[in-house]
Amino acid sequence: CILFSERLASVKPSPSMAAKAKVDALRAQGRKVIDFTIGEPDFDTAPHIIEGGINALKSGQTRYTASAGTPALRAAIARKLERENQLSFRAEEIVVGCGAKHIIYNAFAASLNEGDEVIVPAPFWVSYPDMVALQAAKPVIVACSEESGFKLSADVLAKAITPRARWVILNTPNNPTGAVYTREELEAICDVLRAYPQVWLMTDEIYEHFVYNGVTHVSPLQIAPDLRERTLLVNGLSKAYAFTGWRIGYGAGPVELVKRINLLLTQSTTCASAMSQAAAVVALDGPQECVAEAAHLFESRRNRVMELIAKIPGLSCMQPDGAFYVFVNVQKLLGLKTVAGNVLQSDVDVMNFFIEQAGVAVIDGTSYGCPGFLRMSFATSMEEIEAGYAAIAQAVAACK
Ligand code: PLP
Repeated sequence: CILFSERLASVKPSPSMAAKAKVDALRAQGRKVIDFTIGEPDFDTAPHIIEGGINALKSGQTRYTASAGTPALRAAIARKLERENQLSFRAEEIVVGCGAKHIIYNAFAASLNEGDEVIVPAPFWVSYPDMVALQAAKPVIVACSEESGFKLSADVLAKAITPRARWVILNTPNNPTGAVYTREELEAICDVLRAYPQVWLMTDEIYEHFVYNGVTHVSPLQIAPDLRERTLLVNGLSKAYAFTGWRIGYGAGPVELVKRINLLLTQSTTCASAMSQAAAVVALDGPQECVAEAAHLFESRRNRVMELIAKIPGLSCMQPDGAFYVFVNVQKLLGLKTVAGNVLQSDVDVMNFFIEQAGVAVIDGTSYGCPGFLRMSFATSMEEIEAGYAAIAQAVAACK
């Protein structure tokens, strides 16, 4: 018989990983697919950072490191938090993992008990609810409407908090919507949290460098230092430094939580790759032009994508202030009949229609807790963007 954990019954495969697998499978069949499902920068890690990794190997950094991360990397992260976020953390308040995902997973594993609740504003990054469910805890999904800019408001948060609530997770800039919380919005949220000392705040700031229109990223801890004893800041190098495959992320928070996350690391992964940690030091301490250039590139693509969407009847979109996705409202396409004779009844139908009739892969909003929308990444070349939206426009125009 096959062994399995009952907890797995509540876990779905990550929709973004599944989308990637689907694109790969279609391409293997020889189909041309324009991929707007991409959740990572479409360019390579900067050469000086790659060099840092190679130099680490050549100088013998080929062994296990301290499980919480090398002293050099934790010091570089502390410098980064001071320099970019004006936050002071000591090395023992920082833990390094194999990506931010790994840190979020282990933070939940280290802190949740059966029946505990985690408040997850929707639209949400696909992995949060499943990671919570894996701990036999309950994700409390709180809908944030397009009208509210897809952001959690203070009164909606206050209503969602029960005595079992342990965490609220905030992701700014947000995947999938690109929403960026303002200082005032964060102040209002932190004000609510002050009234509930049993609720911790997890802030996922992985897209912090990709903000547009002069919008600035604010870390909740900058405005609510009094919540520091119950806040875990999560970040990583994946997006900012096109570093996804190297797998480095980190958490910064209270020592007692960091110690427990580290305890899990000692019994599971041991440590993040030594080479990747050394390259991460080079990335964080080195020249930052590659990050600014990437942000600039994404902003120009975002501007073009907004123009292209405006020209397609039935599609509309809130302009994202950050990250590299548009979260497109497709509700006006529902009810249309495609040339294949199918009536579009949901965002999932529209997703399938786009791949089948336009050869464009996207991800349904339902996967992000928000039916009626699609997540469309612009972490791809301008040529693909032009070709993809032209193909969508043509497929939509052929509907009745
Ligand atoms: N958080 C959000 C909102 C993300 O979109 C992602 C990746 O897609 C992650 C965390 C995880 O990043 P990584 O594990 O590569 O650091």
